[in-house]
Amino acid sequence: MCGISAIASHKPVSDQLLMTLQNLEYRGYDSCGMALFDDEKISVRKNVGSVDEVNAVEKFSTMNGTLGIAHTRWATHGGVTQSNSHPHFSNDNNFVIVHNGIISNYQQLQANLVTKGYKFFSDTDTEVFSNLIQEEYEAAGDVENAFCNAIDKLEGSFAIAMITNYQPDTIFAVKKDSPLVIGINDGVNYVSSDINAFISETRDTIILDDFEYVMVKKDDYKIKKLENRNEITKQVIQVQWDRQTAQMGGFSHYMLKEIFDQPHTVRSALHIPRDQINTIAQKFIDKEQSFCVGVGTTYYVAMVGTYLFSDYAGLYVPSISADEFPTLIPVNDKQHVLYFSQSGETYDTRMAIRAAKNAGAATSAVVNVVGSSISQEVDDCIFQGSGPEICVVSTKAAVSQMIILWQIALEVGVLRKHISRKTADEFQDKFQIFSDTIEQVLNEESGFIRNLASQTSHINNWLFMGKGIYYPIALESALKMKEVTYLHAEGLPAGFLKHGTLAMVDENMYSLFFLPFKSDSDLYRSTLMSIEEVKARNGKVIGFCSEEDEEIRKLLDHQLIIPASNPELTPLIQLIVAQLFSYYSALNLGLNIDKPRNLAKSVTVG
Ligand code: GLU
Repeated sequence: MCGISAIASHKPVSDQLLMTLQNLEYRGYDSCGMALFDDEKISVRKNVGSVDEVNAVEKFSTMNGTLGIAHTRWATHGGVTQSNSHPHFSNDNNFVIVHNGIISNYQQLQANLVTKGYKFFSDTDTEVFSNLIQEEYEAAGDVENAFCNAIDKLEGSFAIAMITNYQPDTIFAVKKDSPLVIGINDGVNYVSSDINAFISETRDTIILDDFEYVMVKKDDYKIKKLENRNEITKQVIQVQWDRQTAQMGGFSHYMLKEIFDQPHTVRSALHIPRDQINTIAQKFIDKEQSFCVGVGTTYYVAMVGTYLFSDYAGLYVPSISADEFPTLIPVNDKQHVLYFSQSGETYDTRMAIRAAKNAGAATSAVVNVVGSSISQEVDDCIFQGSGPEICVVSTKAAVSQMIILWQIALEVGVLRKHISRKTADEFQDKFQIFSDTIEQVLNEESGFIRNLASQTSHINNWLFMGKGIYYPIALESALKMKEVTYLHAEGLPAGFLKHGTLAMVDENMYSLFFLPFKSDSDLYRSTLMSIEEVKARNGKVIGFCSEEDEEIRKLLDHQLIIPASNPELTPLIQLIVAQLFSYYSALNLGLNIDKPRNLAKSVTVG
């Protein structure tokens, strides 16, 4: 995730582009840059740092031109360097582009271009598009066709804006799985990742859908469909948000915005290049023993991994909390450790990496922040590309990590011949349906979840329970509840209840159960038994279910039926519902949701 902005105007645009960059900086902030057409040619300035830091050096305001593009970056491919910053030129300097997202087939495209003599000056996935468009232009002879032909070759997620010497009055922009909006004003038009960029200038907005592209001039714009290149008319909406609301995408808190970001961030996680998944999967084969390690939420991500490797690869991969890892595990060079960290700076995880490296073990990581310490310390790293998570508690970053882990576990399963390639491939569709289901659940169920939270937010003690993979989901959901509501929420395996914790259950204790499908009969039966145990002690029970079931319904005080994507991915849907439940509970309690007391986003101390 990052911010892209483009402006076509009858006046010089560098100051306005700078303002839009400042307004977009919350989307990504490791480096930024600008490209303007100044009557003769395109010039680019870019550098590493915050928008203000880069501006102090590059002096964007001194750039000339009435048409330009700009970018604030959240790196996914290639370190945080000047050459990796956007915009990126084509080899002939006639095209320049900014990109938000991940081009998952960039290596193949790049290899092909290299054989034709193209040179690459960055380590990004993005640069491939600037050269692809040059190549297509040489074949097509007109910019619009070249642009569409080049886009047709891309896989992955992208919002792209481009300007060119060949048509210097036009911004070309397109989107798939990354947001893009158009702002319309008198004699000046905007293209941006979100409305926040230009809201001080205009509220007239058009929201682009996937596979639509736009050609924007200062007093005109045309929107077309990629598939047939036919022009379409789209509704202009009047946005009524203020600046701060716009920055949060219209949501009242970053936590809510980030929960709602998840269809996008899951799709980004699905566009991680295959070779990165395969490299880490291979380590599970090459080494005698692997571990999954994280701390806090990422420990629960790691625990989900333990279930996935067991299910899909027939492999026991213990998960260990990073803070315990150095004292607990006698690591050696026949082992491999896979780490999870949102910030890439987590102290406990860094110490766990040090312990493994000192013992000669192989290390890999899934991290959200490029250039972070952890990404540099491990042998191999996947950047998940979820964009900055501003709320202190993690939501979208955790779910994306689970999706990446899922892909690694499937690949390990194939390599170990535990599952067929066909079974693994079928998951691509399941993941796609899953991201659509998240959208559906967020749009259709939020009201019910909010309602439930308003009925229960006075409850001080909670047990969150699940069995099998629903157990780490229960743990992570309980952690969310604790973090944002400060209420006592204990996550435990449903089957564990009767071995002690049941003593606490009376009419004041609320239990939240994460229910599997009935077809998952062993899990279902044993979860049901635990519910019966609670009910027999007059405890109150809330059930997150994915199907109507009379037997369960009779036992529950509150039931939430959540649309299902497919049985395997249902636990993650229930986790997202639990995130919302915690959010609305904290909202009811009037708490500081984005900055809970005593917590910091990135725990860099031991
Ligand atoms: N994948 C691109 C890069 O790493 C764009 C990242 C972004 O969306 O900021 O440069």
